[in-house]
Amino acid sequence: MTSNPPPVNPVEIARIALKRLAERGLPPTPENYSQFYNAIVTIKSPGTKTSDELQHAWQVLCKLDDVLAEARDTTAQLLESLSESGESMAASLGQLHHARRENPALLDEQAHGTVTALLEDIISSTSHLHASVSSSHDDIVSIRESVRHIEEDLAFNRKMLEQDPLTGTLNRQGLDHLLALEVKRAQRGGGKFSVVLFDLDDFKQINDRFGHLVGDQVLVHIANLARAVLRETDFLVRYGGEEFLLLLPETDLHGASYVADRLRLVASKTPFMHHNRRVEISFSSGIAELHDDENGRALVLRADEALYRAKHTGRGRVEIAE
Ligand code: GH3
Ligand code: MG
Ligand code: MG
Repeated sequence: MTSNPPPVNPVEIARIALKRLAERGLPPTPENYSQFYNAIVTIKSPGTKTSDELQHAWQVLCKLDDVLAEARDTTAQLLESLSESGESMAASLGQLHHARRENPALLDEQAHGTVTALLEDIISSTSHLHASVSSSHDDIVSIRESVRHIEEDLAFNRKMLEQDPLTGTLNRQGLDHLLALEVKRAQRGGGKFSVVLFDLDDFKQINDRFGHLVGDQVLVHIANLARAVLRETDFLVRYGGEEFLLLLPETDLHGASYVADRLRLVASKTPFMHHNRRVEISFSSGIAELHDDENGRALVLRADEALYRAKHTGRGRVEIAE
């Protein structure tokens, strides 16, 4: 099973949530507070559990697959040795008949009859055993085939659960596993790891002006541009509605700033067009590099704080977390 990252200090999250509310001039009603609190911390939805459960089921199936492969090999070996035994006993019986024909004094009639009956009995039992092992072997092979199909279905479903249907990027569920994994990898290997959290500026206005469907297309456009500037080992996550997170292994703050700048450049060179008119898209980014003793959530939280600084100091900017 995958383990969840240790939780971030709730007092710290509450502090940031209240700060956000104040910044936006919103009253700290329980509704507003919980909305901001939940937006800051990666809340585990029941769906997350489903994804974990699928992961667990998949692991169990992999084990079952191994056991079945072993049983398949064992029964195949058993079939081979049963065939060999059957053949060698049939040959022995043939030799016995031949020897007695050549030299009738070798065994009296009764002894020959007893030995022949005994051998025929063993040959027949071996043949039955062979038939039954053979049918078990076939069963094992076909069950393994089914297990394989279920494994593939589960892997596919899990992928679907962890994928944002609009942009095809990872969603928050997918992020949970990945972030924990990448943070562990970086900390174990002593490598750098940075994240860029960016949020489209005044996206509500784009929706209001052009309609929600065009807004959707803008999100797809931005996701495609982000993919284009990433390396193969990087990850793109749709962190929220119009908010994306880039996970950049082997990357320090300098590299992460470069990625954020490049995205801005690519976005300005490849504008989103609506009815032959350029739709201006700007975004604000927060960048953070992993500390030695930090978990993934705390890292993203720092990027989030930096992002909000970028928002509140004019938008269209990059801020680096301290
Ligand atoms: P800011 O610069 O402060 O980020 O302003 P904003 O308008 O981008 O931010 P705000 O949080 O006020 O609004 C976000 C908007 O994003 C509102 C919401 O309807 C829109 N949005 C979220 N998800 C989607 C989506 O999947 N498709 C579309 N079209 N719009 C979305
Ligand atoms: Mg926005
Ligand atoms: Mg937003």
